[in-house]
Amino acid sequence: MQATDDTGLRAFIHSLPKTEHHLHIEGALPWELLRAAHPDKYQTAPASWHPGFRFRDFAEFETQLIGYAADFFTTPQRYHDCAAAVFRDRLARNVHSMEISFASGCVDFQNLDGREVADALRAAVPEGLSVRIFLGIHHNGWTPRMTPVLEEALSWSSLDGIDLHGPEDIPVSELAPAYWQRARDAGKRTKAHAGEFQGPEFIRYAIESLGVRQIQHGVRAIEDPAVVDLLLQEDVTLDVCPVSNVKLGVVGSPDAHPVRGLFDAGVRCTLSTDDPVVFGNTLEDEYLLLARHLGFTRDELAILAQPVPL
Ligand SMILES: [Zn+2]
Repeated sequence: MQATDDTGLRAFIHSLPKTEHHLHIEGALPWELLRAAHPDKYQTAPASWHPGFRFRDFAEFETQLIGYAADFFTTPQRYHDCAAAVFRDRLARNVHSMEISFASGCVDFQNLDGREVADALRAAVPEGLSVRIFLGIHHNGWTPRMTPVLEEALSWSSLDGIDLHGPEDIPVSELAPAYWQRARDAGKRTKAHAGEFQGPEFIRYAIESLGVRQIQHGVRAIEDPAVVDLLLQEDVTLDVCPVSNVKLGVVGSPDAHPVRGLFDAGVRCTLSTDDPVVFGNTLEDEYLLLARHLGFTRDELAILAQPVPL
């Protein structure tokens, strides 16, 4: 009976026209591409794909992700190949609107030309899929090599916006608030990761100091009703990734995920996979988690899948 119910639910989730607005392209690398590039090193899928797997901390997760990225994303062409495969996959899952980010830290570490990476990602966008491309900048991303690149990035035609990335416990550069404003002045969209490992005060910082109205995660807003009110007043959208939150220990269990409370409070949320090459999740898994563990009805899942007015 359970299997029959799930089959119908899976078919419903598949049929929904969906968005995915929180996806790191390095973290979305299809396993087949990584394995094809390094067949000896990546024969079997990682332990972190198991549904019961939990990371010790963010550093353990980041080390795994950076290892894959360093091995694969060595050229702009590799970014193109990855993005083309990801876009094909999402079109087949009825995704019609995507936002992806690529990491300034990767561009820096791999000594790549950021504009060429953005152009390579743009060139991979197929007919029928809307894709916005963001440059993800770490809290301390203003390195000597990257500072002039970040200045130039605001004029890249293939770049739609910027995002704040990386471990939340590292202080954000004091250059960030003015840079986020200049990005908007240059016609770019702005968003930020917040409210994942740092609490609601960091969400307030992202809204009030960086001026964003779109937050990646943001789930720890639930700890402070005043910050939930701020999300509502400022019409902020949270791009939530429940499987990521569970595996990284941001929440104790799927049943305890704050997306239920945030949704019920009227906060606009969307669902995404974050870094599926590490978590082993699909976009359908995110919807299934909400239905199975948080009592989301099909009508409620359809609301989460809707295009976001931005
Ligand atoms: Zn993320």
